[in-house]
Amino acid sequence: MLFTKLGLSQAMVDGVKAMGYVDPTPIQLRAIPLILAGQDVIGSAQTGTGKTAAFALPILSKLNAHSRATRVLILEPTRELAAQVETALRDFARFTDIRVAVLFGGVGYGKQLDALRQGVDIVVATPGRLLDHLQRGTCRLDQVQHLVLDEADRMLDMGFLPDVKRIVERCPKQRQTLLFSATIPPQIDALIRWAMKTPQTIEIGARRSPAETVKHVIYPVAEDQKSDLLRALLDQVNYQSVIIFCRTKHRADRIGQLLKKNNHSVAVLHSNRTQSQREMALKGFRGGQYEVLVATDIAARGLDIADVSHVINYDVPQHPEDYIHRIGRTGRAEASGDAFTLMVPDEAKHVVAIERFINQRIERTKLENFNYRATAAFHEPRPGQQGQHPQQQQRPQQQRQHQQQKNKVRLTGESYFARSRRRR
Ligand code: AMP
Repeated sequence: MLFTKLGLSQAMVDGVKAMGYVDPTPIQLRAIPLILAGQDVIGSAQTGTGKTAAFALPILSKLNAHSRATRVLILEPTRELAAQVETALRDFARFTDIRVAVLFGGVGYGKQLDALRQGVDIVVATPGRLLDHLQRGTCRLDQVQHLVLDEADRMLDMGFLPDVKRIVERCPKQRQTLLFSATIPPQIDALIRWAMKTPQTIEIGARRSPAETVKHVIYPVAEDQKSDLLRALLDQVNYQSVIIFCRTKHRADRIGQLLKKNNHSVAVLHSNRTQSQREMALKGFRGGQYEVLVATDIAARGLDIADVSHVINYDVPQHPEDYIHRIGRTGRAEASGDAFTLMVPDEAKHVVAIERFINQRIERTKLENFNYRATAAFHEPRPGQQGQHPQQQQRPQQQRQHQQQKNKVRLTGESYFARSRRRR
Protein backbone atom coordinates (compact mmCIF):
# COMPACT_ATOMS: atom_id res chain seq x y z
CA MET A 1 0.00 0.00 0.00
CA LEU A 2 1.37 3.36 -1.01
CA PHE A 3 1.02 6.69 0.81
CA THR A 4 -0.93 7.98 -2.22
CA LYS A 5 -3.77 5.54 -1.47
CA LEU A 6 -4.38 6.71 2.09
CA GLY A 7 -6.28 9.89 1.31
CA LEU A 8 -3.51 12.27 2.43
CA SER A 9 -3.11 15.69 0.83
CA GLN A 10 -0.69 15.97 -2.09
CA ALA A 11 1.62 18.14 0.05
CA MET A 12 1.89 15.31 2.60
CA VAL A 13 2.49 12.68 -0.06
CA ASP A 14 5.29 14.89 -1.42
CA GLY A 15 6.54 15.48 2.14
CA VAL A 16 6.94 11.79 2.98
CA LYS A 17 8.50 11.16 -0.42
CA ALA A 18 11.09 13.83 0.34
CA MET A 19 11.72 12.08 3.67
CA GLY A 20 12.51 8.88 1.77
CA TYR A 21 9.54 6.90 3.12
CA VAL A 22 8.26 4.38 0.60
CA ASP A 23 5.53 2.38 2.32
CA PRO A 24 3.45 3.29 5.36
CA THR A 25 4.23 1.33 8.53
CA PRO A 26 1.43 -0.78 10.10
CA ILE A 27 0.41 1.91 12.60
CA GLN A 28 0.31 4.49 9.80
CA LEU A 29 -1.83 2.19 7.65
CA ARG A 30 -4.37 1.79 10.40
CA ALA A 31 -4.32 5.19 12.08
CA ILE A 32 -4.25 7.54 9.07
CA PRO A 33 -7.70 6.62 7.60
CA LEU A 34 -9.32 6.76 11.06
CA ILE A 35 -7.82 10.14 11.88
CA LEU A 36 -8.76 11.51 8.45
CA ALA A 37 -12.32 10.35 9.13
CA GLY A 38 -12.37 12.43 12.32
CA GLN A 39 -12.33 9.54 14.81
CA ASP A 40 -10.81 9.73 18.29
CA VAL A 41 -7.99 7.17 18.37
CA ILE A 42 -6.02 5.39 21.09
CA GLY A 43 -2.74 4.14 19.66
CA SER A 44 -0.37 1.64 21.12
CA ALA A 45 2.60 0.37 19.15
CA GLN A 46 6.17 -0.71 19.63
CA THR A 47 8.64 2.13 19.84
CA GLY A 48 10.11 3.31 16.56
CA THR A 49 7.18 2.19 14.46
CA GLY A 50 6.42 5.54 12.86
CA LYS A 51 3.90 6.76 15.43
CA THR A 52 4.68 10.45 14.86
CA ALA A 53 3.88 10.32 11.15
CA ALA A 54 0.77 8.24 11.96
CA PHE A 55 -0.83 11.22 13.71
CA ALA A 56 1.03 14.10 12.05
CA LEU A 57 0.30 13.30 8.39
CA PRO A 58 -3.52 13.15 8.63
CA ILE A 59 -3.65 16.21 10.90
CA LEU A 60 -1.43 18.23 8.56
CA SER A 61 -3.55 17.06 5.60
CA LYS A 62 -6.66 18.39 7.30
CA LEU A 63 -5.11 21.74 8.21
CA ASN A 64 -4.04 22.16 4.60
CA ALA A 65 -2.69 25.73 4.92
CA HIS A 66 -1.75 28.40 7.46
CA SER A 67 -4.40 30.38 9.32
CA ARG A 68 -3.75 32.49 12.40
CA ALA A 69 -5.54 30.44 15.06
CA THR A 70 -3.86 27.49 16.78
CA ARG A 71 -5.82 24.45 15.61
CA VAL A 72 -3.57 21.66 16.86
CA LEU A 73 -2.09 20.99 20.29
CA ILE A 74 0.38 18.15 20.83
CA LEU A 75 1.43 17.47 24.42
CA GLU A 76 4.72 15.68 25.08
CA PRO A 77 6.24 14.60 28.41
CA THR A 78 9.81 15.82 27.80
CA ARG A 79 11.53 18.72 26.09
CA GLU A 80 13.51 16.37 23.88
CA LEU A 81 10.39 14.64 22.60
CA ALA A 82 8.66 17.96 22.01
CA ALA A 83 11.66 19.19 19.99
CA GLN A 84 11.80 15.95 18.03
CA VAL A 85 8.09 16.01 17.15
CA GLU A 86 8.34 19.65 16.11
CA THR A 87 11.20 18.79 13.75
CA ALA A 88 9.23 15.89 12.26
CA LEU A 89 6.20 18.17 11.72
CA ARG A 90 8.33 20.77 9.95
CA ASP A 91 9.79 18.05 7.73
CA PHE A 92 6.38 16.65 6.80
CA ALA A 93 4.94 20.13 6.25
CA ARG A 94 7.82 21.41 4.13
CA PHE A 95 5.56 21.89 1.05
CA THR A 96 2.96 23.89 2.99
CA ASP A 97 2.99 27.24 4.82
CA ILE A 98 1.76 25.66 8.06
CA ARG A 99 3.53 27.08 11.11
CA VAL A 100 4.64 25.14 14.17
CA ALA A 101 5.84 26.39 17.57
CA VAL A 102 7.45 24.35 20.30
CA LEU A 103 6.99 25.43 23.94
CA PHE A 104 9.04 23.90 26.74
CA GLY A 105 10.73 25.02 29.93
CA GLY A 106 14.42 25.47 30.71
CA VAL A 107 14.83 28.14 28.02
CA GLY A 108 13.81 31.80 27.73
CA TYR A 109 10.40 32.97 26.59
CA GLY A 110 11.57 35.29 23.80
CA LYS A 111 11.58 32.95 20.81
CA GLN A 112 8.38 31.23 21.95
CA LEU A 113 6.57 34.55 22.35
CA ASP A 114 7.72 35.74 18.91
CA ALA A 115 6.38 32.56 17.31
CA LEU A 116 3.06 32.80 19.18
CA ARG A 117 2.64 36.47 18.28
CA GLN A 118 3.04 35.72 14.59
CA GLY A 119 0.35 33.05 14.83
CA VAL A 120 0.98 29.31 14.71
CA ASP A 121 -1.22 26.48 13.44
CA ILE A 122 0.34 23.83 15.67
CA VAL A 123 1.69 24.03 19.21
CA VAL A 124 3.89 21.19 20.46
CA ALA A 125 4.43 21.62 24.19
CA THR A 126 5.36 20.15 27.53
CA PRO A 127 2.60 20.74 30.12
CA GLY A 128 4.41 23.08 32.55
CA ARG A 129 5.53 25.74 30.08
CA LEU A 130 2.24 25.60 28.20
CA LEU A 131 0.37 26.34 31.45
CA ASP A 132 2.68 29.33 32.02
CA HIS A 133 1.79 30.69 28.58
CA LEU A 134 -1.92 30.08 29.20
CA GLN A 135 -1.77 31.92 32.53
CA ARG A 136 0.08 34.86 30.95
CA GLY A 137 -2.46 34.93 28.14
CA THR A 138 0.27 34.49 25.53
CA CYS A 139 -1.20 31.30 24.10
CA ARG A 140 -4.85 30.38 23.45
CA LEU A 141 -6.39 26.99 22.91
CA ASP A 142 -10.00 27.99 22.21
CA GLN A 143 -9.69 27.18 18.49
CA VAL A 144 -8.03 23.78 18.92
CA GLN A 145 -9.59 21.13 16.68
CA HIS A 146 -7.06 18.32 17.16
CA LEU A 147 -5.52 17.40 20.50
CA VAL A 148 -2.73 14.80 20.72
CA LEU A 149 -1.71 13.36 24.09
CA ASP A 150 1.54 11.60 23.27
CA GLU A 151 3.30 9.17 25.64
CA ALA A 152 0.37 9.48 28.04
CA ASP A 153 1.70 6.86 30.46
CA ARG A 154 4.99 8.75 30.68
CA MET A 155 3.12 11.96 31.51
CA LEU A 156 1.39 10.03 34.27
CA ASP A 157 4.73 8.69 35.60
CA MET A 158 6.14 12.22 35.63
CA GLY A 159 3.20 13.56 37.63
CA PHE A 160 1.81 15.68 34.77
CA LEU A 161 -1.69 14.27 34.78
CA PRO A 162 -3.31 17.14 36.78
CA ASP A 163 -1.61 19.65 34.42
CA VAL A 164 -2.77 17.69 31.40
CA LYS A 165 -6.36 17.82 32.68
CA ARG A 166 -6.18 21.58 33.23
CA ILE A 167 -4.90 21.99 29.69
CA VAL A 168 -7.57 19.72 28.18
CA GLU A 169 -10.22 21.82 29.96
CA ARG A 170 -8.97 24.89 28.06
CA CYS A 171 -9.61 23.17 24.70
CA PRO A 172 -13.04 23.23 23.03
CA LYS A 173 -15.23 20.21 23.76
CA GLN A 174 -15.83 19.80 20.05
CA ARG A 175 -12.46 18.42 18.94
CA GLN A 176 -10.65 15.28 17.84
CA THR A 177 -8.53 13.67 20.56
CA LEU A 178 -5.72 11.20 19.89
CA LEU A 179 -3.91 9.44 22.70
CA PHE A 180 -0.74 7.38 22.46
CA SER A 181 0.42 5.25 25.35
CA ALA A 182 2.48 2.07 25.64
CA THR A 183 0.39 0.93 28.60
CA ILE A 184 -3.08 1.87 29.82
CA PRO A 185 -2.98 1.98 33.64
CA PRO A 186 -6.26 2.87 35.44
CA GLN A 187 -5.52 6.62 35.59
CA ILE A 188 -5.01 6.73 31.82
CA ASP A 189 -8.18 4.72 31.37
CA ALA A 190 -10.01 7.36 33.43
CA LEU A 191 -8.44 10.12 31.32
CA ILE A 192 -9.59 8.34 28.15
CA ARG A 193 -13.16 8.09 29.43
CA TRP A 194 -13.14 11.75 30.43
CA ALA A 195 -11.37 13.27 27.42
CA MET A 196 -12.29 11.08 24.45
CA LYS A 197 -15.43 10.28 22.50
CA THR A 198 -15.98 6.64 21.46
CA PRO A 199 -12.31 6.16 20.64
CA GLN A 200 -11.06 3.44 18.28
CA THR A 201 -8.10 1.50 19.63
CA ILE A 202 -5.16 0.52 17.46
CA GLU A 203 -2.68 -1.93 18.84
CA ILE A 204 0.22 -2.84 16.63
CA GLY A 205 2.08 -6.01 17.52
CA ALA A 206 2.17 -7.23 21.08
CA ARG A 207 2.18 -4.25 23.40
CA ARG A 208 4.84 -5.82 25.50
CA SER A 209 7.28 -7.09 22.94
CA PRO A 210 10.57 -5.43 22.19
CA ALA A 211 11.41 -4.76 18.52
CA GLU A 212 12.10 -8.07 16.82
CA THR A 213 15.25 -6.82 15.19
CA VAL A 214 16.96 -6.36 18.57
CA LYS A 215 19.20 -9.15 19.87
CA HIS A 216 19.36 -8.98 23.61
CA VAL A 217 21.54 -10.61 26.16
CA ILE A 218 22.36 -10.39 29.88
CA TYR A 219 25.80 -10.28 31.46
CA PRO A 220 25.75 -11.44 35.08
CA VAL A 221 28.57 -9.76 37.00
CA ALA A 222 29.72 -8.93 40.55
CA GLU A 223 28.92 -5.35 41.62
CA ASP A 224 32.57 -4.34 42.00
CA GLN A 225 33.41 -5.61 38.49
CA LYS A 226 30.57 -3.83 36.75
CA SER A 227 32.51 -0.85 35.45
CA ASP A 228 35.44 -3.08 34.39
CA LEU A 229 33.05 -5.30 32.47
CA LEU A 230 31.50 -2.26 30.81
CA ARG A 231 34.92 -1.06 29.66
CA ALA A 232 35.86 -4.54 28.41
CA LEU A 233 32.54 -4.83 26.62
CA LEU A 234 33.04 -1.50 24.85
CA ASP A 235 36.53 -2.55 23.80
CA GLN A 236 35.21 -5.73 22.20
CA VAL A 237 31.97 -4.53 20.69
CA ASN A 238 31.96 -3.41 17.11
CA TYR A 239 29.61 -0.52 17.67
CA GLN A 240 28.80 2.56 15.64
CA SER A 241 27.05 4.35 18.45
CA VAL A 242 25.95 3.20 21.87
CA ILE A 243 23.60 4.48 24.54
CA ILE A 244 24.38 3.43 28.10
CA PHE A 245 21.50 3.68 30.57
CA CYS A 246 22.14 4.27 34.26
CA ARG A 247 19.70 4.27 37.17
CA THR A 248 20.64 7.67 38.60
CA LYS A 249 22.02 10.99 37.41
CA HIS A 250 25.02 10.53 39.70
CA ARG A 251 25.83 7.13 38.21
CA ALA A 252 25.45 8.53 34.69
CA ASP A 253 27.94 11.30 35.52
CA ARG A 254 30.37 8.79 37.06
CA ILE A 255 30.23 6.42 34.08
CA GLY A 256 30.57 9.36 31.70
CA GLN A 257 33.77 10.46 33.49
CA LEU A 258 35.17 6.95 33.55
CA LEU A 259 34.65 6.41 29.83
CA LYS A 260 36.09 9.82 28.98
CA LYS A 261 39.24 8.81 30.87
CA ASN A 262 39.32 5.71 28.69
CA ASN A 263 39.36 7.75 25.48
CA HIS A 264 35.75 7.34 24.49
CA SER A 265 33.96 10.37 23.14
CA VAL A 266 31.06 10.65 25.53
CA ALA A 267 28.00 12.85 26.03
CA VAL A 268 25.89 12.69 29.19
CA LEU A 269 22.12 13.30 29.21
CA HIS A 270 20.02 13.64 32.34
CA SER A 271 17.59 16.10 33.89
CA ASN A 272 20.13 17.91 36.09
CA ARG A 273 21.92 19.19 33.03
CA THR A 274 20.89 22.53 31.58
CA GLN A 275 18.70 22.65 28.50
CA SER A 276 21.62 23.75 26.33
CA GLN A 277 23.81 20.92 27.69
CA ARG A 278 21.02 18.46 26.93
CA GLU A 279 20.62 19.80 23.42
CA MET A 280 24.38 19.76 22.78
CA ALA A 281 24.58 16.17 24.02
CA LEU A 282 21.78 14.99 21.73
CA LYS A 283 22.96 17.01 18.75
CA GLY A 284 26.52 15.80 19.14
CA PHE A 285 25.43 12.19 19.52
CA ARG A 286 23.05 12.35 16.57
CA GLY A 287 25.72 14.00 14.44
CA GLY A 288 28.39 11.42 15.27
CA GLN A 289 30.58 13.75 17.34
CA TYR A 290 30.07 11.48 20.35
CA GLU A 291 30.07 7.71 19.98
CA VAL A 292 28.69 7.07 23.45
CA LEU A 293 25.66 8.66 25.13
CA VAL A 294 25.31 7.95 28.85
CA ALA A 295 21.75 8.67 29.95
CA THR A 296 19.11 8.18 32.58
CA ASP A 297 15.60 7.13 31.56
CA ILE A 298 14.84 10.64 30.38
CA ALA A 299 16.28 9.56 27.04
CA ALA A 300 14.54 6.22 27.00
CA ARG A 301 11.13 7.10 25.69
CA GLY A 302 10.35 7.91 22.14
CA LEU A 303 13.57 9.72 21.25
CA ASP A 304 14.42 8.99 17.67
CA ILE A 305 18.15 8.65 17.37
CA ALA A 306 19.17 7.11 14.07
CA ASP A 307 21.72 4.31 13.83
CA VAL A 308 22.13 3.40 17.48
CA SER A 309 23.85 0.06 17.10
CA HIS A 310 23.91 -0.87 20.78
CA VAL A 311 22.08 -0.16 23.98
CA ILE A 312 23.77 -1.12 27.23
CA ASN A 313 21.78 -1.19 30.44
CA TYR A 314 24.48 -0.49 32.99
CA ASP A 315 21.73 -0.94 35.56
CA VAL A 316 18.74 -3.22 35.09
CA PRO A 317 15.64 -1.05 34.75
CA GLN A 318 13.39 -1.32 37.79
CA HIS A 319 10.17 -1.03 35.80
CA PRO A 320 9.80 -3.75 33.17
CA GLU A 321 8.25 -1.39 30.63
CA ASP A 322 11.36 0.82 30.81
CA TYR A 323 13.33 -2.14 29.45
CA ILE A 324 11.24 -2.03 26.27
CA HIS A 325 11.64 1.70 25.99
CA ARG A 326 15.36 1.60 26.60
CA ILE A 327 16.08 -1.10 24.08
CA GLY A 328 13.67 0.62 21.71
CA ARG A 329 16.51 3.10 21.12
CA THR A 330 18.18 0.46 18.97
CA GLY A 331 16.59 -1.55 16.16
CA ARG A 332 14.38 1.39 15.15
CA ALA A 333 12.69 1.56 11.75
CA GLU A 334 13.70 -1.96 10.89
CA ALA A 335 17.40 -1.55 11.47
CA SER A 336 18.99 -4.18 13.71
CA GLY A 337 20.72 -3.61 17.01
CA ASP A 338 22.02 -5.26 20.14
CA ALA A 339 20.91 -4.66 23.70
CA PHE A 340 23.16 -5.71 26.57
CA THR A 341 22.16 -5.67 30.22
CA LEU A 342 24.64 -5.93 33.07
CA MET A 343 23.11 -7.71 36.05
CA VAL A 344 24.40 -7.86 39.63
CA PRO A 345 22.85 -10.28 42.16
CA ASP A 346 20.46 -7.70 43.63
CA GLU A 347 19.04 -7.00 40.20
CA ALA A 348 18.06 -10.59 39.40
CA LYS A 349 14.50 -9.99 40.62
CA HIS A 350 14.09 -7.11 38.17
CA VAL A 351 15.30 -9.32 35.33
CA VAL A 352 12.74 -11.99 36.29
CA ALA A 353 10.03 -9.28 36.22
CA ILE A 354 11.21 -8.10 32.77
CA GLU A 355 11.18 -11.65 31.41
CA ARG A 356 7.66 -12.15 32.69
CA PHE A 357 6.60 -8.86 31.19
CA ILE A 358 7.99 -9.59 27.74
CA ASN A 359 7.14 -13.26 28.05
CA GLN A 360 10.57 -14.22 26.85
CA ARG A 361 13.75 -15.47 28.47
CA ILE A 362 16.82 -13.37 27.82
CA GLU A 363 20.04 -15.23 27.17
CA ARG A 364 22.71 -15.07 29.90
CA THR A 365 26.25 -14.94 28.73
CA LYS A 366 29.84 -14.22 29.68
CA LEU A 367 32.28 -11.95 27.95
CA GLU A 368 35.24 -13.82 26.55
CA ASN A 369 38.64 -13.14 28.10
CA PHE A 370 37.18 -11.23 31.03
CA ASN A 371 38.55 -12.24 34.38
CA TYR A 372 35.27 -12.91 36.21
CA ARG A 373 34.98 -13.24 39.96
CA ALA A 374 32.34 -15.71 41.12
CA THR A 375 29.06 -14.03 41.90
CA ALA A 376 25.57 -15.05 42.96
CA ALA A 377 24.38 -13.33 39.78
CA PHE A 378 25.38 -16.54 37.94
CA HIS A 379 22.79 -18.46 39.95
CA GLU A 380 19.75 -16.26 39.91
CA PRO A 381 16.31 -17.89 40.20
CA ARG A 382 14.36 -18.77 37.08
CA PRO A 383 10.79 -17.49 36.71
CA GLY A 384 8.62 -19.61 38.97
CA GLN A 385 11.53 -20.33 41.32
CA GLN A 386 11.79 -16.89 42.82
CA GLY A 387 13.82 -16.73 45.96
CA GLN A 388 15.14 -20.25 45.65
CA HIS A 389 18.77 -20.78 44.95
CA PRO A 390 19.27 -23.46 42.27
CA GLN A 391 21.81 -25.20 44.49
CA GLN A 392 19.12 -25.70 47.12
CA GLN A 393 17.00 -27.52 44.61
CA GLN A 394 19.51 -29.79 42.89
CA ARG A 395 21.26 -32.90 43.93
CA PRO A 396 25.10 -32.86 43.57
CA GLN A 397 25.15 -34.63 40.19
CA GLN A 398 22.51 -32.34 38.73
CA GLN A 399 24.44 -29.46 40.17
CA ARG A 400 27.58 -30.51 38.36
CA GLN A 401 25.69 -30.92 35.08
CA HIS A 402 24.10 -27.55 35.57
CA GLN A 403 27.49 -25.94 36.15
CA GLN A 404 29.01 -27.72 33.12
CA GLN A 405 26.15 -26.46 30.99
CA LYS A 406 26.66 -22.95 32.31
CA ASN A 407 30.33 -23.06 31.49
CA LYS A 408 29.44 -24.00 27.93
CA VAL A 409 27.28 -20.93 27.59
CA ARG A 410 29.88 -18.58 26.30
CA LEU A 411 29.30 -15.74 23.98
CA THR A 412 31.71 -16.11 21.11
CA GLY A 413 33.35 -13.21 19.35
CA GLU A 414 31.76 -14.28 16.07
CA SER A 415 28.17 -14.18 17.20
CA TYR A 416 28.03 -10.68 18.56
CA PHE A 417 31.41 -9.08 18.41
CA ALA A 418 34.10 -8.33 15.96
CA ARG A 419 37.25 -6.38 16.63
CA SER A 420 36.41 -2.78 17.36
CA ARG A 421 36.33 -0.51 14.34
CA ARG A 422 35.88 2.55 16.43
CA ARG A 423 37.74 5.70 15.64
CA ARG A 424 40.02 6.80 18.44
P1 AMP B 1 8.66 7.26 15.42
O1 AMP B 1 8.09 5.95 15.89
O2 AMP B 1 7.61 8.22 14.97
O3 AMP B 1 9.61 7.86 16.44
O4 AMP B 1 9.53 6.96 14.10
C1 AMP B 1 10.70 6.18 14.14
C2 AMP B 1 11.54 6.38 12.88
O5 AMP B 1 10.92 5.77 11.75
C3 AMP B 1 11.79 7.84 12.48
O6 AMP B 1 13.15 7.97 12.13
C4 AMP B 1 10.92 8.06 11.27
O7 AMP B 1 11.48 9.04 10.42
C5 AMP B 1 10.95 6.67 10.64
N1 AMP B 1 9.73 6.39 9.86
C6 AMP B 1 8.47 6.68 10.20
N2 AMP B 1 7.59 6.25 9.25
C7 AMP B 1 8.34 5.68 8.29
C8 AMP B 1 8.03 5.03 7.05
N3 AMP B 1 6.78 4.91 6.61
N4 AMP B 1 9.06 4.55 6.32
C9 AMP B 1 10.33 4.66 6.76
N5 AMP B 1 10.70 5.25 7.93
C10 AMP B 1 9.71 5.75 8.69
